[in-house]
Amino acid sequence: MPLTGIEIFKLLPKTNCKECGVPTCLAFAMNLAAGKAELNACPYISEEAKAKLSEASAPPIIPVTIGVGDRASKVGGETVMFRHEKRFENPPAFAILISDSMKEPEIDARLKKFGELQYERVGLTLRPELVAIKDDSGEAAKFEALVSKVKQKSDCGIILMSSNPDILATGLKACADRKPLIYAVTEDNLDSVANLAKENSCPVAVKASNLEELAQLSTKLTEAGVKDIVLDSGSRVLRQAFEDQVIIRSAALNKKFRPLGFPTIVFPCEMTDDPMKEAVIASTFVAKYGGIIVLSDFQGESLFPLLVERMNIYTDPQRPLATTEGIYEIGGPDENSPVLITSNFSLTYFIVSGEIENSKVPSWLLVKDTEGLSVMTAWAAGKFVADAIAPFVKKCSIGDKVKHHKLVIPGYAAAESGGLEEELPDWEIQVGPRDGAHIPAYLKAWKR
Ligand code: SF4
Repeated sequence: MPLTGIEIFKLLPKTNCKECGVPTCLAFAMNLAAGKAELNACPYISEEAKAKLSEASAPPIIPVTIGVGDRASKVGGETVMFRHEKRFENPPAFAILISDSMKEPEIDARLKKFGELQYERVGLTLRPELVAIKDDSGEAAKFEALVSKVKQKSDCGIILMSSNPDILATGLKACADRKPLIYAVTEDNLDSVANLAKENSCPVAVKASNLEELAQLSTKLTEAGVKDIVLDSGSRVLRQAFEDQVIIRSAALNKKFRPLGFPTIVFPCEMTDDPMKEAVIASTFVAKYGGIIVLSDFQGESLFPLLVERMNIYTDPQRPLATTEGIYEIGGPDENSPVLITSNFSLTYFIVSGEIENSKVPSWLLVKDTEGLSVMTAWAAGKFVADAIAPFVKKCSIGDKVKHHKLVIPGYAAAESGGLEEELPDWEIQVGPRDGAHIPAYLKAWKR
């Protein structure tokens, strides 16, 4: 049973030194009990207390990592039911399904799509993470050959799917160093697949036919010493699978029910034959509460919206996406090129820089730190006003890079032009367009 906040408090040093980021040990204890703090944030807890607190301080949903290095995917670790309560921590990983009974051209085409379908958006690379390799042939050699092929063609994370422990063991021989997810432990194979997971230090998925059985199996796995577990409730009907996701999340967070305190895996690929319907089902699990989402195939028109949905839901609602303050060179500008300034809200930056690129007029773009606020909001908040802009223009030394000393400010900040001319007496302030779409025409007509 998890400890209460008061029980945890009794084990803390009670010095209220604030080094853990909260004002008192009691507040820290309450956060620990609620799964909103990590034990190692307090440097003064004794080893004895640490041992006692480890259960209470474990996140209510254990984070599980699949894969290694830059392509490792961490799922789970969530602490809230709803994004607005704090934030969602680890986005669900998308997996493409490849079966060892597929023909070579089909396998190659899927692997090609897996590698190629990635997108740049607001400074991030959006792409799928995992390849789920399924044993349909029942032949260990065929399965192993496919695993080796996937491993050779991509540094992605891997899911090994078979109900046969011997075939899983063969697949593992080919890719254990990638720390694949082993799918799946069932009532029939629990001991042998649990041993495979322990021997190879790999995460393992457990599959049941209902939540009660799922909790029993995950408890047996935990007792067998397996810590990294992913849950499959077994349902392949949207309504039931959705309900299972909500119950699992709620049981782990609200009831602190450890047997269901793990990330989940869902299979939209087994819920419909219609690719568009499959994408819609997947989008449901992006929002609530899939940990790994396995799709039958990837198409740009369905994968891209899913990746964008995931990005939007898994951004921190308390911190707007922001670009680093500085001077950005677009199109190879020189000393005669225009100088524009904007805020560091990522979407603003990417719209403005995109329109400058479209204009084909090489330009300098100054990005002022406005704590991720857009131009109008930052202006209203006093973060994109003459007093704040002028010191940045001086400090960034853009004046040394151009001969003309003309600064184009966004149309929405036109009210600052007078103040800026006072603050920057050797600069001419020009008011640019309000709308990013008008930047190309403005720059084409701009004269030094
Ligand atoms: Fe208490 Fe430890 Fe936090 Fe200091 S760092 S206030 S001792 S819990």
